[in-house]
Amino acid sequence: MERGYSMGFKGAAIALFTVAGVVATSGTAEAAALPSYEQWQADVKQVMDPAIPWLEQRVAQGGENLAIVLDIDNTSLETEYHKGEPNKPVLAVARWAKDHDMAVLFVTARSFSGKARGDLAKAGYEVDEICTRGLIERFGKAKARCRKDLAEQGYTITANIGNRDTDFQGGGFEKEYKLPDYDGELS
Ligand SMILES: [Mg+2]
Repeated sequence: MERGYSMGFKGAAIALFTVAGVVATSGTAEAAALPSYEQWQADVKQVMDPAIPWLEQRVAQGGENLAIVLDIDNTSLETEYHKGEPNKPVLAVARWAKDHDMAVLFVTARSFSGKARGDLAKAGYEVDEICTRGLIERFGKAKARCRKDLAEQGYTITANIGNRDTDFQGGGFEKEYKLPDYDGELS
C-alpha cells in the first residue's frame, strides 16, 4: 500500500515534468510565429483607423454615459513587443474618447487592478474604471461579467476593443474592434 502510493506520486511527478516540457516547446514556436512589430502595427492600424470616425457618429447620436471598453495586454499596451509601452493607435482612440466626454473603461484578464492602473497611467491612459478577472473565473466569462457590471453602473458601452475572442464573448457592447491575435499566438 505504502509502496503503491509512492510509485503513484513518482508517476505524477514524471507527468508534470512532461507537461512543462511541452509548454516550453510551444513557447518557442509562439515567438517564431509572431509577425514583426511593423507588421503588427500595420494590422492594428487597419482595425483602429475606422474607430474614431465611428465614435464621432456615435457621440453625435447622443446617449447617457457613453463609454469605450479596452482590453489591456496587447491591446492598450504593447505587452508582447515592448512591455509597458502604449499601443499608439489604441491610445489615440482612448484620448479622443476622453476629449469627447466618453468614459474609458478597462476590462482585463489580469486579477489585480492596482498594478494595471499604474501601468496604464505610465503609458498615458486616463482610466475611469478597471474591471479585473476573479482568480478562478474563466477569461471570456469574466470579461462578459465585467461589461454587465459596468452597464449596471450606468455606462453605455459603445466600442469594445480587444485582441482575443474572449474579449468579445457574451456581447454587451455596440461595436467590436478586434485586433489580431494571430490564431492565438499573441496572448
Ligand atoms: Mg489582450
